Amino acid sequence: MPLQKHINSSLRIGKHSETLLINQLSLARAEEKKTVYKFGFGQSPFPVPKKVTEQLQLASDRKEYTSVQGLTELRNSICKFHNQLENKDWNPEEIIVAGGSKILLFCIMAAFKKAEILLPAPSWVSYEPQGKLAGHEVNWIETKFDDKWQLTAEQLEIYCTTRNINVPLILVLNYPSNPTGQTYNAKQLKELAKVMKKYKVIVIADEIYSLLTYSEHYPTLSDFYPEGSIVSSGLSKWCGAGGWRLGFHYIPKELGEDFKQAVISVASETYSCAPTPIQVAATHAYSETGSARIFLDKQKKILNEISQYVTKELNLANISTHAAQGGFYLFPDFSQYSHALEKIGIHSGEDLTSRLMENIGVALLPGSAFGMPTESLTARLAFVDFDGSQIYSNNSKIDKTSNLPSTFEFEKIKEGIQKLCLWFSKLK
Ligand code: PLP
Repeated sequence: MPLQKHINSSLRIGKHSETLLINQLSLARAEEKKTVYKFGFGQSPFPVPKKVTEQLQLASDRKEYTSVQGLTELRNSICKFHNQLENKDWNPEEIIVAGGSKILLFCIMAAFKKAEILLPAPSWVSYEPQGKLAGHEVNWIETKFDDKWQLTAEQLEIYCTTRNINVPLILVLNYPSNPTGQTYNAKQLKELAKVMKKYKVIVIADEIYSLLTYSEHYPTLSDFYPEGSIVSSGLSKWCGAGGWRLGFHYIPKELGEDFKQAVISVASETYSCAPTPIQVAATHAYSETGSARIFLDKQKKILNEISQYVTKELNLANISTHAAQGGFYLFPDFSQYSHALEKIGIHSGEDLTSRLMENIGVALLPGSAFGMPTESLTARLAFVDFDGSQIYSNNSKIDKTSNLPSTFEFEKIKEGIQKLCLWFSKLK
């Protein structure tokens, strides 16, 4: 009894075909023993620090459920950590922990009766289906290469003045961004905050990559709009622990106790609590601010170096790209080659990424997977195809002042980028 016609259309299964197609092509290539340059799928290449994995082993007999909100000691250490490292002013009562920040994003959306979800394009893949699954209208504002793919205060103001839907407006703002690697500076955040205050926009500030912002001091929306910013973060990116599934949200008091309780209620009816041993190990990860800083400095140095390398090579090959400011993604724009691409039957980002995989084994995800129009010749490039455990083999040599040791290798990335540039240079 096939249930095809009963499947919830909010899941937009078709949208995931871009990722699946690239995965299939890349598997087929790997079976033929041909090299695949894995720039499609993005996860941290760095290992979880040994001290943290040891804590997980020690906690393996912790089999009890915790409160839905999470262990008090974990929420305490999350607050201390972010208050120290990011100048937040958080209180453990306002933190909710979960098995990954992704499910919490859904819990927030599901806590609203009716809302409008607003997304800058490009944005991460899951916000739109989550918003729709929660029964909301989802709308997009397209950003531009020249604005570094960032939402401007002016765009937000125009959107808010012309909007005629009478439900709360929830803007999801992710910085540093997956897929673009760009983050907002203080001036931009200040201007955006002014508009947000004026129109009472509720913001989900997805700061899952914030600790991987390359510059030492960086602003966040909480500096200018703490009362309206729900902050989303977790262990997945900065601690290399995506599969551990540990995330949290900070819900500002100003949104009211009822709202927080509604989110806790969705959490309680869905995931109950984050896995207890992971919460214990995470408490340790968030307690060691000193070693975390060193670990973060090393990661940022490596990521920045690779981003600079890739950006330079792509720009030299006339592929417009902004260097990343944090995290591990770039969002190249190939439109300078649009005529040459047309001639060989490539009319969309998806055509382009499929062809690149078939011809040279370079895996990229098309911009359309992130809300860009189908015809947009953009793609996400995740520069994580290297061995992150080298971070330990050169332990004493990498710090924020010294250069990367000459032994640090990202040869596979270099090779893939060279192949990509060569492929474009051969286009007529
Ligand atoms: N937000 C963004 C922008 C992401 O890239 C990811 C993971 O890929 C998440 C949220 C979800 O992270 P997690 O559920 O692992 O905390």
